[in-house]
Amino acid sequence: MRLVLLGAPGSGKGTQAARLKEHLQVPHISTGDLLRAEVAAGSKLGLEAKEVMASGNLVSDEILLGMLEDRFSRPDTRDGFILDGYPRNLAQADALDKLLTRIRQPMDYAVQLDVPTDLLVERIAGRAKAEGRADDSPESVRTRLKVYDDQTAPVIEFYRQHGQLTVVDGVGGLDDVFNRIIEALVPAKEVG
Ligand code: ADP
Repeated sequence: MRLVLLGAPGSGKGTQAARLKEHLQVPHISTGDLLRAEVAAGSKLGLEAKEVMASGNLVSDEILLGMLEDRFSRPDTRDGFILDGYPRNLAQADALDKLLTRIRQPMDYAVQLDVPTDLLVERIAGRAKAEGRADDSPESVRTRLKVYDDQTAPVIEFYRQHGQLTVVDGVGGLDDVFNRIIEALVPAKEVG
């Protein structure tokens, strides 16, 4: 199964993706994690991405697409994947669509985790204390939420128009949200 998780920073994509990975037995591809690994390794790409990430802005489409093509060329994605953190703007959505068409692995589902903004801010503030991520400072969080509204929210419409979108209520306990996602993945024809 090939699915993409959509949702604002703090919506729970990473947490749910980790659980879905176990449940569906397919790899979890997080562009945020891939970028953080490059930063940690001190690679050329990581050095380029570091400041942009810390500010809460988007790393260039070109870098992201290269990273993704590389990731999809690994054999573990053959039986599917859970994509998290990509696409983050319409150009990326388009590039992904073309890439998946080319490798004959069209997306099955786009699942949007829907969480109100005040709760997002609260969750990120909690995570900032616990994890100390460089881009969880109040200023960077404001930028990330604005970038999401301006650039990433339109991606939801993209998947709606392609008939692939499922919206899931992301408010509630981790198990509740997880169960809602699983229910949303049952194809309509099997529901009856
Ligand atoms: P979040 O918790 O905000 O969803 P992620 O871990 O997914 O964060 O990503 C962290 C940062 O990595 C982003 O703010 C951005 O700078 C960069 N990044 C991740 N994915 C992408 C992408 N698809 N395009 C551009 N930049 C990205």
